[in-house]
Amino acid sequence: MKPSSPSLPAGQRAAAFTRLTAAPLDVLVVGGGIVGSGVVRDAAQRGLRAAVVDQHDFAAGTSSRSSRLLHGGLRYLEQRRVRLVREASHEKKTLHRIAPHLAQPLGFIFPSYRGEGRPMWQLRLGVKLYDFLCGSGNFEPSRGFSRAETLQLLPALEPEKLAGSVQYFDALTNDARLVLDTLRSAARHGATLANYARMEDATRTGDAWTCRVVDRETGAAHVVRARTVVNATGPWADQVPHSAVKLRLSKGIHVVIDRRRLPVPSAVVITEGKRILFVLPWGERVIIGTTDTDYRGRPEDVAVAPEDVAYVMRTGNEFFPTVALRADDIVSAWAGLRPLIANPDGSPSDISREHQIKSPEPGWWDIAGGKLTTYRLMAEQAVDAIVRHLGAPAQPCRTAEEPLLPAQEAGRYSGILPAPFTREAVEHYVRHEWALKLEDLLLRRSGWHYYERWSSATIEQAADWMGDAAGWTAERRRGELERFQAQARPAA
Ligand SMILES: Cc1cc2nc3c(=O)[nH]c(=O)nc-3n(C[C@H](O)[C@H](O)[C@H](O)COP(=O)(O)OP(=O)(O)OC[C@H]3O[C@@H](n4cnc5c(N)ncnc54)[C@H](O)[C@@H]3O)c2cc1C
Repeated sequence: MKPSSPSLPAGQRAAAFTRLTAAPLDVLVVGGGIVGSGVVRDAAQRGLRAAVVDQHDFAAGTSSRSSRLLHGGLRYLEQRRVRLVREASHEKKTLHRIAPHLAQPLGFIFPSYRGEGRPMWQLRLGVKLYDFLCGSGNFEPSRGFSRAETLQLLPALEPEKLAGSVQYFDALTNDARLVLDTLRSAARHGATLANYARMEDATRTGDAWTCRVVDRETGAAHVVRARTVVNATGPWADQVPHSAVKLRLSKGIHVVIDRRRLPVPSAVVITEGKRILFVLPWGERVIIGTTDTDYRGRPEDVAVAPEDVAYVMRTGNEFFPTVALRADDIVSAWAGLRPLIANPDGSPSDISREHQIKSPEPGWWDIAGGKLTTYRLMAEQAVDAIVRHLGAPAQPCRTAEEPLLPAQEAGRYSGILPAPFTREAVEHYVRHEWALKLEDLLLRRSGWHYYERWSSATIEQAADWMGDAAGWTAERRRGELERFQAQARPAA
């Protein structure tokens, strides 16, 4: 088949840089993870001239490496962080309302063992309070299961000392898709977007900021002027010039296995001491995670280590001993960094997941911490502050009411599960979702890499279709394949 419009994506990118540099922006958002995407969407929707740049691909940082839950965070109740749980519980329902294709309500079975961990009475109380904090009701009311009922639902669960279980409800999302659909919404409202565009430096001149943004595809440096700058760079937030953020990074990994090996009917909470891990059904797969360990390296180097995998598999096997998961059950894995607000004391699990929005210099905002679940609220609060600073007429925030995307656009190539692997899907991701590299397509636009066990021939097919849509030379195609295959080596 003939290559289709090879110059289209390159032309779109050039147009984005022209718009970035043409006239001063109201808001330049640095970082296209979930937080930056939320800010640029909200700002554009309120009528501000807004743009977002990301040094890598959109969602390539933490926002494609989470547990993929929209949740209030049951375990934060133990830490008495009631406000955080209430806030996040409301937001999970808001996201379910505005983006139903990316919020699938999911029951979580939390088993209780006699003499270990949380007793049944505590779990029963906890899930009732959790329902209550959702305001007008959780997706479904929580309930308790007897020991026999629990084993009927989960026959492979360790039976010894099992007292029973409770079930509560949160939602499964697709983190990278949530970022991309938020950006698609931002673009519909007139925002300018550029991935592989790194903000290197910023200087305040008069009442505006002059920023140096480097196009990492061409190496060209651009001058972008903006009345306000938002540092939404997640785990990189303390490295950006002018940032006043202090972070403590905590690493978490997940593994994906075939659901036939661990056929759970709903999500299961498994514990290791005080820590909580999740077994999450994801179509024909199951996601298991996560870990929580201090991380001191460069954010871009975070990787799944054999000891992380061993910890997750060991915990899984303690709860499902007859299943006996092995390393060769792993379909894929990912590692991410929680950009937590620094608190030198306490274990990573104890540090607050609350967010911080601060303006250390006029027109500069640092927005850090928080969770995927609370991104819309974080963005609303940040844009409220920016609108006040600009003193310009702006419309009120509508992100909690307006659907993320019109229904006919939302679900076709976006959802909790990867879309079918077709040439049309590949073309869509290249033409309408800023996919520049093979990894952008396979990891974040589609998620095929995490879900499928593909042969090299199928990966080459994907590169062929992508190359046709993007107008790649044979050399570029080869380079993309080599880079992808080197990067996507199995984790364990
Ligand atoms: C293991 C794990 C599990 C989690 N599970 C959940 C969960 O189930 N539910 C939940 O609600 N939350 C969860 N979280 C938290 C949530 O994922 C994060 O809070 C959120 O993704 C952070 O988003 P962000 O936009 O701040 O950062 P990121 O997604 O990392 O985005 C920052 C972006 O900034 C870019 N950038 C950096 N420097 C520059 C620069 N100079 N110029 C341009 N761009 C730059 C980076 O390339 C990156 O894309 C989890 C986190 C982890 C690590």
